[in-house]
Amino acid sequence: MPAVDDRPLVNLVGRPAHDLVVLLTDSVRRPFYARQVARWLTERHATSFEEMTDLPKQLRSELGRRFRISDPEILETARSRDGSVKWLFGLDDGLSVEAVAMPDGAKLTLCLSSQAGCAVGCLFCVTGALGAGRNLRPDEIVGQYRVMLRDLAVSVDRVNIVFMGMGEPLLNTTHLGVALETLFHRVSPKRITVSTSGILPGIRWLAGLSRPPKLAVSLNAPDQERRRFLMPIADRYPLDELMAELRRFPLERGRRITFEYVLIRDVNDAPGDPQALARLIRGIPTKVNLIPLNEDADHFPDLRRPDDDSINRFAMALRDAGITVTVRWSKGLDVDAACGQLKGRHQGSPTRRQAS
Ligand code: SF4
Repeated sequence: MPAVDDRPLVNLVGRPAHDLVVLLTDSVRRPFYARQVARWLTERHATSFEEMTDLPKQLRSELGRRFRISDPEILETARSRDGSVKWLFGLDDGLSVEAVAMPDGAKLTLCLSSQAGCAVGCLFCVTGALGAGRNLRPDEIVGQYRVMLRDLAVSVDRVNIVFMGMGEPLLNTTHLGVALETLFHRVSPKRITVSTSGILPGIRWLAGLSRPPKLAVSLNAPDQERRRFLMPIADRYPLDELMAELRRFPLERGRRITFEYVLIRDVNDAPGDPQALARLIRGIPTKVNLIPLNEDADHFPDLRRPDDDSINRFAMALRDAGITVTVRWSKGLDVDAACGQLKGRHQGSPTRRQAS
């Protein structure tokens, strides 16, 4: 069916239910139908108007002439032996982003991207090596989740969501805010985590939300000097200012801030580092997630993962210092599961980085 005029059809994906009702009311004449369409999209994740069989046939055709329901296109899917699945999604302007589903006991963690690239440039990250990209729109963010649920045929009750894929979510707060509102319709804020490299205005934005998701901070070093070496963003938002902001962060009862710490041999795994880290975060309700580096000989050949004994010793020392610790033993190493690796392989010609 042609569009009603030459304008591109408006995509209904990624919009919160109340926005959909407002947007559709004129087209459907009866508010009841607008609410039905909103339910089909936000609860049943419909992919076409034809599926909406409780709407009159004529209305479905009319909606198809004015609107579209479009998700990102799957360019590649890779399934790992450990059960994790990775998708490379194509966007309508030719860019691509990745998303990963990782089994976590009876649950599944969906790791979504918020930008098509990243300007933050962390030394240990393939996405950072690939360079900046544009902000994803709400339909492109929520679309990843919709496609993943469909592809895995999994119920929404089984999933947690983390914004830890490509991009810095707190540099895309306008679109992230809309996407979160849409996701909250089916996924509680308690089951959604936004992970940041430490963007202070973004952390303040998150603190001001009426329904804030959980916060994770990619820390990676117990002092400013090494953090700055690994994460150039620390020049702009120094560690002492970041920690002061996090001490002010309003945490709901029972919530904690997760600190992620990518463990890199001879960079941030020295014998005194667990104690220094424990001192740095003391007083904040917290959990530390140790992430042994996913090595990438093409993008950061000088950075190595510590051996398993060193990783276990680091975790034990943190526990001895009274910190709750988990170790994320790498999932999906056989399918380029680290952020940006699949896209990097697709793009070819890696950007090599020197660690020293
Ligand atoms: S780790 Fe996150 S913030 Fe850092 S470069 Fe990669 S995507 Fe960007």
